[in-house]
Parts: sequence; structure tokens; C-alpha cells
Amino acid sequence: MSDTDLLGIEHRWPERAKWPALQGLAAAGEDFYRRGWSLGTSSNYSVVLSKTPTRVLLTASGKDKGHLGSDDFVLVDEAGKVLRSEGGKPSAEMWLHLILAQRENIGAILHTHSPSATLLSDLCASDGGFWIEGYEMLKGLSGITTHEAKVWVPIFPNTQDIPSLANAVEARLNTTTEPKMYGYLIRNHGLYTWGKDLAEARRHIEVFEFLFDVLLRKRALK
Ligand SMILES: [Zn+2]
Repeated sequence: MSDTDLLGIEHRWPERAKWPALQGLAAAGEDFYRRGWSLGTSSNYSVVLSKTPTRVLLTASGKDKGHLGSDDFVLVDEAGKVLRSEGGKPSAEMWLHLILAQRENIGAILHTHSPSATLLSDLCASDGGFWIEGYEMLKGLSGITTHEAKVWVPIFPNTQDIPSLANAVEARLNTTTEPKMYGYLIRNHGLYTWGKDLAEARRHIEVFEFLFDVLLRKRALK
């Protein structure tokens, strides 16, 4: 991202404390677009600016993620009310961000639409998800310290009824009887993952995308 992409940031978002979040999300968008994970205005990203009260900076709907500028964000509260916008609207998927944003230790939520996530989410849909185990790269997920770890990636059916999908994801997050969830897939759609801050969330996207590629290539070799 060049500095000129965010010209006007001071005028449009005068609260200086929000600038790093805007710039960080624009940089993530440029990177994910370049890697083919956020093409065609797909995906959405957010940073939690405050927990009490809930203040979430979210990419606005339908924006080119390769060239996010200061007009391309909205600031919302826990009820999805837009507190600030430069003309953009939140995506319907805002609810999938808000359920995570209000949880402890989550400071950023990232959602991508990569080819690997899309394909794997379809191939494994009938099992409701898939295990990833035995890979050194799993150690890139926060809290995992050994390649012997086993991570279950749940797959939720795709729907345009995002509030009901958000309820299903929230119920899964609250369950104590299922394996810990580091991220999840929506069938034929994409990946959601998160982190304590934007850097950790970006690392989790990279780790999952790497592992999805590996799993797909392994299947193709069989
Ligand atoms: Zn999406």
C-alpha cells in the first residue's frame, strides 16, 4: 500500500488512534488480494478498537480489497449500528465479526475466499469438517506448541441468512464438548479466523491457507 492510498485519512478519520487499524487492514487487504485470497471484492476484515463499549472497525461491503482507502471502512457497535462511515455500508457478514469481536482475547477477525478454502470446504462438507494433524505449520496457531497437535476445522453450510449462521457459529464457540476452534470454513465460500490482534489473525490466515494447500495437493497425489 502506498501512502497516497490513504490520503485523506486524517480528514476522514480524525481520531489518530484509529489510523493504525485502518492502515493495517488496508495492508492485509493488499497482501491477501495479491495472493488470490480476496479477489473480486470478496472477503471482509475487522479490528476491535474497544471491548467496552464494543467498537469494531470493519471493511465496508463490496470494496476492492487490493486497494482499500479511508472511505472503505465502517465503525460499528455490538448491535451493528453504524457509528461512522464515509458512505460505505457494512456487509451482511458483519454479524460473523460481531459474535467474535465481543469475546475475550479476540482483537481482529479476518475472512478470505481462497480457491483452496473453497474447494476443501466442498470436498469435506459431508463430514462436517476435517482434521489437520502432524504438520509443523500448526505451531503457527496461537497456543499450539507441537506438530503432534490435531486441529479440527468445522464446515458450516453456506447461507444468505447470516444471522442464523452467526447463531450456529456462536453455539459452536460456546460448546465445551467439541475440539477447540481456531477457525472455520463456510461451504463453497471461505475461511474465518481471528487473533488477539491483527498480526496474529494474519498469521492464522497464512497458516490455514498453507495447510489447506498442502491437504489439497496431498489428496491430488493419492
Ligand atoms: Zn464471505
